[in-house]
Amino acid sequence: PPTSRVDKLLSSMGYGSRSEMAQLAKGGRITLDGAALSDASARIRVTADLPTRMKIDGQPLDPVAGLVILLHKPLGMTCSHKEAGPLVYDILPPRWRQRSPAISTIGRLDKQTSGLLLLTDDGALLHRVISPRRHVAKTYRARLARPLTGTEAALFASGGLMLEGDAKPLAPAQLQVISETEALLTVTEGRYHQVRRMFAATGNHVEDLHRESLGSLALPDSLSPGQWALLDEDQIALIF
Ligand code: URA
Repeated sequence: PPTSRVDKLLSSMGYGSRSEMAQLAKGGRITLDGAALSDASARIRVTADLPTRMKIDGQPLDPVAGLVILLHKPLGMTCSHKEAGPLVYDILPPRWRQRSPAISTIGRLDKQTSGLLLLTDDGALLHRVISPRRHVAKTYRARLARPLTGTEAALFASGGLMLEGDAKPLAPAQLQVISETEALLTVTEGRYHQVRRMFAATGNHVEDLHRESLGSLALPDSLSPGQWALLDEDQIALIF
């Protein structure tokens, strides 16, 4: 594992400036394995278990760099700073917005889409998940304004559907009908408003859209809208 000065590490995690960290240490408020760490310029090994060993004012340290967050995105929140409305980042502890490397969403969901959203500070992982070459499957549950006609599954699976304004036809996608007006749709691309535009191309309209899974990683029922959890390595592996 990499090593870091304590003040630099804590500052990169959003706890404050390096001089503020030096003050905290002097005041005996930072402990490692139960003992006060009075010199913030000390170097420590940045292991994944550090949050269980280092405490600030008795509170376990935030997760170290390389985190992956599974968020049940609620309706009405945006993934982009460019859009109006509250941001999904507002759900996380405020300090986490000051982290470096920064935490960003892995892909995006529309403001009016709910469900599984991942966030990470791991740029390599982010690119692996969104890379078109990886074909990571994304499954959405769509509630439709009008009954399905029965022709949608074949059209979506054909790999020949052209959406207005796009230069290339869509890759094949799988439709699983749940009821007349509800279906699961699994796509491997991440085009702008893709699912809504696919159903619009069939003359229908998506009323509600919810992402249920990414690869084999499903949104657990135990996670309510607005709740999140950190993923471990085994859970991350389910994406690919
Ligand atoms: N497709 C959409 O239309 N919207 C989303 O948020 C995700 C996929």
